[in-house]
Amino acid sequence: MDSSNLMDKITALCKRRGIIFPGSELYGGLNGTWDLGPVGTLLASNIKNEWLKNMLSRGDIVPLDSSILHAARVWEASGHVASFTDPMIECKTCHERFRADHKAQIKEHESTHDKTLWTEMKLFNLMFKTFIGPIDNEENKTYLRPETAQGIFINFKNVVDSTRISIPFGIAQIGKGFRNEITTGNFLFRVREFEMMELEFFIKPTDGTKWHEYWKKERLNWYLALGIKKENIKLIDLPKKDIAHYSKGTSEIWYNWPFMGFGELEGIANRGDYDLSQHSKYSGKDLSYFDEKTKEKYVPYVIEPSVGVGRAMLAFLLDSYREEEKRIVLKLNPKLAPYKVAVFPLLANKPELVAVAQKIYKDLRSNFVTLYDGRGNIGKRYFAQDEIGTPFCITVDFQTLEDDTITVRDRDTMKQERIKIKNLLVLR
Ligand code: ATP
Repeated sequence: MDSSNLMDKITALCKRRGIIFPGSELYGGLNGTWDLGPVGTLLASNIKNEWLKNMLSRGDIVPLDSSILHAARVWEASGHVASFTDPMIECKTCHERFRADHKAQIKEHESTHDKTLWTEMKLFNLMFKTFIGPIDNEENKTYLRPETAQGIFINFKNVVDSTRISIPFGIAQIGKGFRNEITTGNFLFRVREFEMMELEFFIKPTDGTKWHEYWKKERLNWYLALGIKKENIKLIDLPKKDIAHYSKGTSEIWYNWPFMGFGELEGIANRGDYDLSQHSKYSGKDLSYFDEKTKEKYVPYVIEPSVGVGRAMLAFLLDSYREEEKRIVLKLNPKLAPYKVAVFPLLANKPELVAVAQKIYKDLRSNFVTLYDGRGNIGKRYFAQDEIGTPFCITVDFQTLEDDTITVRDRDTMKQERIKIKNLLVLR
């Protein structure tokens, strides 16, 4: 399948089936924003639930939900005010701006003019500025967070003092991040507002490498367990020249994107003690940790797996998309499938079928996210459910009225099986 074509097809499918809509579409659109429709909201929520469940079921990770706005000093301490920048150049002819390190886009742009002249490269800070309160001055300026991680670091001491966890332990957070990207594109891949799933796992400094290796494997396995094909995903250790000066090692999980080949899906960094040390320095508060077991005092190191929900969602959508002879199907892992089951009456104008189908729908709803569909013919209904990845479709037909059986159709095999209504909950 042609790759740009595939992105167009996925984008069209998302619009058609209520997965994702262009942001502010009614007003001509707002670049770098996308809205989740009813189906996409469920898909994103399943991705987030799987991530959080995976983190919390271990017993050594606690959740956090910090605010999006922090005091401006937080961003000075973290280094974002000084250096959360991307290199930018501008085309002197049409004044379009590009990231100087995005060579493919630059080349593509150069092909649109006879001769492209570029401005000098300058650094552009990606943080969105805003003002707290009614006066727009320097003193009241702060930023929309470009990552959720700093909310974790500034609450490190609160969490240690208020819970029973001890090192090694993690704090996991899901929340919105905002980056005023110079250019956006490739659907959900690079946007200006996105949810992030971030873990900060605090460890003894001497255990840094061991835990970094551990989290690289854990995170890769999470994607594989949720159905990403092995050949489409890999782990990469970034060379020293490409990583932040304080990083003790940065790795990435790369996905095989149709528009660029292998590229970043998730970052997994050993950030050393940089963040806690910086916040100690800027806040004047001691953020070191006293290890009761070893009686040592130290500033913990931290391992940070960080991924955008939308970028993960795009990978799951691309990986599960199939075009078969007569249908398009999202072969999503059932854990991620927005709806787990759909219920249909064979004919919508037969009240006796509708009554049974409605009763089943109502019973299933308390256990599964369930859809009811009585429109069109049965083939169209299956087609619609395949396109949003619903694993099972249940049909109530005339035989149901005689022997209390229904058909259950499997999304992947398209095979139908007749089972007793009372056995339906076995699906759970
Ligand atoms: P890049 O160099 O591509 O701009 P980054 O290295 O700055 O990205 P990180 O700070 O490591 O990105 O962000 C962590 C994760 O957040 C990324 O792996 C990605 O999943 C997600 N992410 C970052 N920026 C965006 C964006 N603009 N749109 C969507 N997801 C993003």
